[in-house]
Amino acid sequence: MTDARRAGVALARAKERLDTLDWYPAPVRLRRVRLLSAPWLFRLPWLRRFDGYATWTVILLRGPVAEASDDLVTHELCHVWQMQHRPLAMPLSYLWQGYANNRYEVQARRAAAITAPDRPDGA
Ligand SMILES: [Zn+2]
Repeated sequence: MTDARRAGVALARAKERLDTLDWYPAPVRLRRVRLLSAPWLFRLPWLRRFDGYATWTVILLRGPVAEASDDLVTHELCHVWQMQHRPLAMPLSYLWQGYANNRYEVQARRAAAITAPDRPDGA
C-alpha cells in the first residue's frame, strides 16, 4: 500500500470516529485534507514535544504514516474539524490560551479518548 493510500484509510477511520460526535454543525470534511510524514518539522524547537501538527488542510506527523496511531490521527483530524468551523479563532486561541489547557486542545484529546474502540464506556 502506498503512503497516500494508507493516509486515506487512516483519515477515513478517524472521520468515522469523529462522525459519532455532534460538536459542530457539520461533520468533518476530508476533501483536500492530507496526512503526511514530516520528521524534519518536529526538529524545530517549538514543535519538538509534539507528534503531530494540523493546519487547515494538512496534518503533519513526526513518524511514518504507516505507524501513526488511530488516536493521534483522530486528535489531529479533530483540529482540522475545529478549523473548518473556527478558521481563525481556533489557531489564534493558542496565542492567548497557550497549549496545555487550550479548549481546542482539550476537545481534541477528548475526541480521541471517548471515540476509542477499546473504551466503549467512554471513560
Ligand atoms: Zn492537539
